[in-house]
Amino acid sequence: MIDTGKVAQRWTELSGEIVTGMAEWRQQHPQATLREIEAALDERLERLRAKLLEEAALLSDARSWQPTGEGPACPDCHVKLKGQAFTPRDLQTQGGETLHLERQYGVCPQCGQGFFPPG
Ligand SMILES: [Zn+2]
Repeated sequence: MIDTGKVAQRWTELSGEIVTGMAEWRQQHPQATLREIEAALDERLERLRAKLLEEAALLSDARSWQPTGEGPACPDCHVKLKGQAFTPRDLQTQGGETLHLERQYGVCPQCGQGFFPPG
């Protein structure tokens, strides 16, 4: 079950960082042109977009591990999960920076479902 209150709080924090960063940037660049302001904003929004995408993607499969004697297992098949790296997408920011969104998760070798460890 997704705790929407907690998620919204976390995402509000993330947006707040972006907004604050933008305000600071503007203060440091009082002579910026509209185009420069737009580029600075786009760069920050792209970063926010990447973070929200990653976290939202991770939430969709946030079923808890079901520990057995030998590690996490599929709750449906009771088969031990195989560890794999999860990459929703590599994002290229306007500044040419690549964001690698990767997290370890487990896949059931029997039914193919993916599970993220809690937390
Ligand atoms: Zn399974």
